Amino acid sequence: DPDAKEVRVLVLGLDNSGKTTVLKQLGGEDVDSVTPTQGFNVKSLQQSNCRLNMWDIGGQKTIRAYWRNYLDRTDLLIFVVDSSDQIRMEETSTELKQLLNEEKLSGVPLLVLANKQDLLNAISPEEISEELNLANITDRPWTIQPCNARDGMGLADGIAWVTKQMN
Ligand code: GDP
Repeated sequence: DPDAKEVRVLVLGLDNSGKTTVLKQLGGEDVDSVTPTQGFNVKSLQQSNCRLNMWDIGGQKTIRAYWRNYLDRTDLLIFVVDSSDQIRMEETSTELKQLLNEEKLSGVPLLVLANKQDLLNAISPEEISEELNLANITDRPWTIQPCNARDGMGLADGIAWVTKQMN
């Protein structure tokens, strides 16, 4: 569909949260660019009436400083959380808070993926909402979606919410 709306989606989250797996699972047809040095992937995901250009930016601490360079013209933010990594939940919360304070992301809808729900020590989306203070977010649409990027559980619902925000 040549009239499909182009949507720029940023996929962020700490390293090891599952960003790359989410994108692979969603099965974007073409990997337009993979540059290990800067550590980002772009995948296009064709939906009914829009094309989601998903940018997966590396989440290692040293790379997070560069997230800022990718914020321009972002239509939607997907923030991936490893639900089983309770030790890093505070670090996760700090990173998200900083992102939501970015001028360039003001008003940008937020999908939080509570990933790795298959793991026994995973905490629930409700608990993650609390840890990340999601209830305090009043300046943009947001939702939290439990998922398992390895088998795809929950991802279609997450993408459905994304496309709904773009219509
Ligand atoms: P990234 O650093 O955020 O891109 O994370 P990756 O996509 O590389 O995933 C990090 C590790 O977590 C890999 O070993 C994945 O196989 C694993 N992983 C990702 N998603 C899930 C999930 O939903 N469940 C489980 N059990 N493992 C996952």
